[in-house]
This record gives sequence, structure tokens and C-alpha cells, in this order.
Amino acid sequence: PRVCDLAIAAAYIVLDNPRPVEMLTAFVSGYHKVNSLTSLEIELIWPLMRMRLAVSLVNSTMMASEKPDDRYVTVSQEPAWRFLEEAQINEALTTAKLRVACDFPVVDRADHVVAWIEQHRGYFAPLIGCDLSDVPVCSLSVEEIAYPCNPFRLPRDEAAELGAEYSKSHPIWLGYYNEPRLIYTAPSFRLGPWKASDRRTVHLAVDVFAPEGTFLYAPLDGIVVSAEFRPDSLDYGGVIMLKHETPEGDPFYTLYGHLDPAFLDMLKLGDKVSRGEAFCTLGEQEVNGGWPPHVHFQLILGSVGLGSDMPGVAAPDDLFFWHKLCPNPAALLNMPDVQVSYKPSDKSKLYLKRKAHFGGNLSISYEDPVMVVRGWRHHVFDEWGRPYLDAYNNVPHVGHAHPRLAEIAKDQMHRVNTNTRYLHTAQTEFANILLAKFPKEFEVCYFVNSGSEANELALRLARAHSKNMGIITPDHGYFGNTTGALQISAYKFNKPNGIGQSDWVELVDVADDFRGAYGRDDPDRAAKFADLVHGAFDRLTSRGHGLCGFIAETFPSVGGQIIPPKGYLPKIYKKIRACGGVCIADEVQTGLGRLGSHYFGFEYQEAQPDIVVLGKPIGNGHPIGAVVTTRAIAESFDNGIEYFSTFGGSTLSCRIGKAVLDIVEEEGLQQNANKTGIRLIKGLRDLQKTYPAIGDVRGMGLFIGVDLINPDGSEATDLCFYLKTRMRDHRILMGSEGPRDNILKIRPPLTIEPEDVDMILSVMADILAEV
Ligand code: PMP
Repeated sequence: PRVCDLAIAAAYIVLDNPRPVEMLTAFVSGYHKVNSLTSLEIELIWPLMRMRLAVSLVNSTMMASEKPDDRYVTVSQEPAWRFLEEAQINEALTTAKLRVACDFPVVDRADHVVAWIEQHRGYFAPLIGCDLSDVPVCSLSVEEIAYPCNPFRLPRDEAAELGAEYSKSHPIWLGYYNEPRLIYTAPSFRLGPWKASDRRTVHLAVDVFAPEGTFLYAPLDGIVVSAEFRPDSLDYGGVIMLKHETPEGDPFYTLYGHLDPAFLDMLKLGDKVSRGEAFCTLGEQEVNGGWPPHVHFQLILGSVGLGSDMPGVAAPDDLFFWHKLCPNPAALLNMPDVQVSYKPSDKSKLYLKRKAHFGGNLSISYEDPVMVVRGWRHHVFDEWGRPYLDAYNNVPHVGHAHPRLAEIAKDQMHRVNTNTRYLHTAQTEFANILLAKFPKEFEVCYFVNSGSEANELALRLARAHSKNMGIITPDHGYFGNTTGALQISAYKFNKPNGIGQSDWVELVDVADDFRGAYGRDDPDRAAKFADLVHGAFDRLTSRGHGLCGFIAETFPSVGGQIIPPKGYLPKIYKKIRACGGVCIADEVQTGLGRLGSHYFGFEYQEAQPDIVVLGKPIGNGHPIGAVVTTRAIAESFDNGIEYFSTFGGSTLSCRIGKAVLDIVEEEGLQQNANKTGIRLIKGLRDLQKTYPAIGDVRGMGLFIGVDLINPDGSEATDLCFYLKTRMRDHRILMGSEGPRDNILKIRPPLTIEPEDVDMILSVMADILAEV
């Protein structure tokens, strides 16, 4: 009776739930913790649950004939039919999952099987006829190898080369159990609709790589329960499953994949294979799914309704169960488990070490940090091979791990990487292509290592030109970490314990005003800002400072990707110049096509700065900053003091910088930012209609802020934190921003595609619905 009640509750938990088995497992294991179930009860849950839904359907149909107008009577009919008729759920597998979640052996007597195998370790017939204990075990893990180049598509030629570096020196080598790998790229490995959906990455077998044609000998007596040829690329090719029995009659299975299908002529279902009998050979690439010759050797404790469809790799978050069903087969190879069991980096230990070696204000994202070991375009992968859509990082402007940039880095490091004291075409070529993006008045470039350093240099240029010290800047600016850049970054010096505002810096308070007017023509507001600048100038003069200039991001990123009213910059620049100052535009975040419709933010503003600062995206991860200016300003700076930056303008940096600009052009990335940005902004504004917690959606191209608010209109800091964390649970990385940290920041690499935008919108809708 007790389990009937449990099954009734369970029936309504699974209905219309997108993850019914996970929900059921969580529910049953929670119940079991408080009130222990027997294994027989657990086996009854699934059939009783379906029975409950069937009874409910019959009851409600009968009651509906008596009360045809009462809609409540039939309210669960549709979901119940959907579940009973359509849900493709394997009952035996679900029951096995419930058993494991309640600490029972995965199938009845699995513990006896494991103990028997353990006792016989060292006495099984050798799988390929020789002792494997001294054979090297080599890794194909996501952390150890840098291929597949594209972790979403392993082409046949790359698959055929897998582990070639090991095969060269070892005719026989082993591949690890429990190893996360990015090589499983066929659609059947993906568990959801999106590229960043969970996928199966972790190997549940041991591989033995050996020459094609190598004989396999049965480790113990068995009966053929499956013998198939699976010709698809990246599948098994020839595959055999044997059933074994312990002397006590407990069954278990072994699976052999990537075989030469020639065995099909000799073996049939039910055939007996004796211990030590050669029963098949390793297939070559044409017949084994396209891999280098090897056998995938897996131990399976129960067929749980899967038969030969048993997965050979599992999703990282499901491993607890799959390890129970398919434990390490090392004992059958007469080896210790640890020798072939892979251990990915332990993230928690790594985090502790990092805390020991670095300052506490080195921030890290998420309470449960993400360890990133690979990237490809706008996705990254963690140490278990879980994919994440990178909707946050603007540094990999043309995408993570761009093969062309990797090639250039390798090539130039082989040649020479030196500095601007020597001549090299790379420097002038980079300068040429960069200057070509600017109005003709910009004639001179300086190359540095970072955005901070570029801003610092821009200040020096402005001071040398104006012969003054005072600088005016908006109240939300972020210009970097070097001393000079920090002194003008209101964002930093206004923080608690900030360094405090310097005497020669004057802030204009514009961020709040922008909010009401983004992207619109608003001459009155623009004029107001110009007046604010005048006030700031007066305050500087009253403190005895002349004006060297005005520095601002063309679109403020810190306030949450704010698009200022059109006309604001030209009016301010005019005022600044009238007061003798130089106009500096920080385009670190906004430049190089991110805004979609314009290559630079100042173009959108129809303003012409005197100095432009570029940073991180221009190196796509390689440290580069650049300052671009007019001949006149450069001449004022050429005042007898040598200008030199050791790494700025290095041969390699210049080649990379040029290639990034070329790639933006050749891959149409600005156009892509425009197209996908429009789709994303429109989708977010549609969501705003359903979810009033979205107070504002602003931005242009792929520079987007989502302002989250409470019902009373105040900044929803907690909600923003929740959204960011839950998005990460759903494999989407985003940032947050703003003085109250309530603005979701979306700035993906410019390679993002419409289907990724749809993933963001779909996941965000689900999460907002949770709140
Ligand atoms: N300016 C802006 C607008 C930035 O966003 C940043 C970095 N976030 C910088 C300057 C400083 O760049 P870096 O970290 O390369 O020094």
C-alpha cells in the first residue's frame, strides 16, 4: 500500500515534465532517504505509476459522461494520454536508475557478479593473446589532446588519425575508461536540441589499439547475444555482445566494438564461445566506423532493455548510474582498475590551489566555477567535455580557437618574435589595414599590450598635445587597470575602498540620463550633456587645471550597454575642442563591427574623435592594444622622450591583429553581428512583454544589456544573479553589470548563429517562468 501512494504522487510529477526520469529519480531517492523502500517496491513503482494514469483516464471518462460541463474532471486527460502513448521511456532502464538512486545494486545480484569478477582478476584469458599490464595507456581526453579541431564535427580524416602520435611509437596501447572525450560528435551523442545541449562524452569501456586483423580471444565462456554490422560513420562497425554467467547463474555481458564484420559469416546468435577462443578480429577504418583499428571493450552488468543498443559513452552528469551498470572492465583484462581509469582535473582542488596562490580580489565567475579547457567559435568545453554557449566573452571576437590564428601563432613563433626596434612588414601591414578602417585624418598608430595601456598612452598623447592635465569623463567609465587608466575609471575609483578621484579628473553625470533616451535623436538632452561638460570645465579651471581632453567609451558598457542619444558625442566634442581639449574615444568594447550596423561606435554617433583606443578583441585573446590618432597629435608627443613598448607591436602581435581584422571582413562578422543582434534584441523585447521583470532591453548588434527590475521598478540584483546562475546550469555563459549588478550582459563572439540566439531566448523564457 505504501508504494501505491508513492506511485500516485510520482504519476503527477512526471506528467508533462521535460525530464520525467530525472524528476522521478530525485523524488524516489528523496523518499527512500526518509522511509526506506525495498527493491521489490522500487520495481513496482513504474508499472503502478502507469496503472494510476490508466485508472485516472477511465475514471475521468466515466465522470465526464455524468458531468459533461465540468472541465476539472478531464483536466489531466491530455497529459496522461501523452505520457502513456508517446513518452519513449525504457521501463527496465528507469527501474535500474531508481535502484541505483536508492543504493541497491543496479540489477538484482549485480554485487555478486562484481565480486566474482574481482576474485578472478588475473585468471581471464588475455583479450588479444598477450599480457597488457605493461602496455602504455594514452589519453584522448578533452584536457590532453587538442583535436578534434571542431568539437562539433569530427571529419573522417581526423577520426582516422586519432591517437596517431601514440601509434607511431607503440604498436599496442590502451585507451582509458571514464575518460571525457570530444570525439563523439555524431548527432546521436547529443541529448537536446541545441549545440550546447548536454552530450555524451565519457567513455565507459577500455580501448585496446592494435593492428587491424589482430585476433580477439574470449576472456571467459560466453554466448553470442548480438552480432551486428553498424556501418555509420563514428559508430561501431562490427560489434559483438557476449552473455556470461557466474557459477551461481548470475548473468553479465561483454561488448566488443569496431570489429571486422567478417565474423558475421561464422557467428550466429546463441553460439557458444569458449574461454580463450579467437572469435573475431579488429576491423580496419573502412569497416569499423572510421577509427584507427582498436577494440572498444565494455563490461555490462544488465541489459536493462537496451540489448546491443547499450551506450558506450555517457553524459558526465549521468555517470554515477552508468558506472554502476558498466563498471571498469580492467579485471577482465587482468589489470588493476586504477591503471586504466581516467581522472580529469579535480576542479575543487584546483580552486583551492588557486586561492592559495593568488590575491583574493582576483574574481571568479559563479559559485561553482566553470573550468574551461577547450573552445571553438562561440562555444567552450569544461574538463568533462560539457559544452557551453559563450554569450559573454567579447575577447574571442572572431571565435575561440580560430584555426587561422593558431596557425599564425605557431608559424611566427617558429620564425622570430621581436619588437619595433627592427623592421618587419608585419608592423606596417597591420598599421595599414587598421588605419584603412578610420577617417583619413587618422594617420598614426601605436601598438601596446592591453586596453589599459592604450588608454594610459592616449592620456599621455592628449597631455602632450594640450599641454594640460585636466580630463573630463562620464561617471561610469571603465578604462582599465594601469595606474593612469584607474585614475580616470569612475567605475573603479568610486567603489568602496576605491583610490578616490584625482584632482585633475572631473566627472560628468550622464548615465542616468542616457537610460531614458537610448538610441533616439534627442537634441535637448545632447545639449544638456554639452552644458554638463561646460560645468566640469569650470570646476577644473577653478582647481587650477587646464583641459587636456575628454575620454569616454562611445557606448558605455559599464552602465549596461547603454546606447546614448544620437548627437551626444558631436556636441560634447565640439565643446571640448572649444575649451582646448582633445577627444578620446575608447572603442575597446564597441569597435570592430560588434555593433552590427557600424564598425565603430563613433561612426554611429557621427562624431570624429582625435584619439581612438582599441583593445582586447583586436587580438582575439592575444594581448594587443592600439592607439590611433592624427599626425598633429603624434608630433606633439614626439617630444624627445623615446616611446617604446617591448611587446606592443611585436611581430606576432601584428600578424595576429591584421588577421583578426581580415577575418572580420572575410567571414562577414559585422553583418552577422547585425543579423543575429536584431534577432536577439527582438526576441528579448518579445520576452519583455510576458515577463515584466525585464525592465529594459538595450544595445545594438551583439552588445546587449537586459535590465532586470523588481515589481516596484527597483534594480533586481538577486534576480539577475539567479538568471546568470541558472543560465549557466543550462550551459549558457553570461555576465552581469551595472552599479547594482542587475543588468545581464550579452556580448558573444561575433560568430554566434541564429540557432544559438534561439537557445538563449528559449532558456531565458524557461528560467523567467521559474521565478
Ligand atoms: N576599456 C574598456 C572599455 C574595457 O572594457 C576594458 C577592459 N574591460 C579596458 C579598457 C581595459 O582593457 P585591458 O583589460 O585589456 O587592459
